[in-house]
Amino acid sequence: MTQDENRCIFCGELHIDGIRLCGKLICASCEKDLVNTEVDEPAYQCYKNGIKVIWNGEKYRQFLNDNFH
Ligand SMILES: [Zn+2]
Repeated sequence: MTQDENRCIFCGELHIDGIRLCGKLICASCEKDLVNTEVDEPAYQCYKNGIKVIWNGEKYRQFLNDNFH
């Protein structure tokens, strides 16, 4: 398992545990944020787009570049 597979796609930190979508890790903290985020909050849209990107495959790196750099 590479380091990248243990890297949360939202906060970018390394985590051992968390949920996985198509092999991409979302740490427990970010997952909690996602669950607790109201629909009309901008952060939710960011998360939702992230989820969409994950399901679409390997474009999440571009998503990270667009949103966190
Ligand atoms: Zn995270």
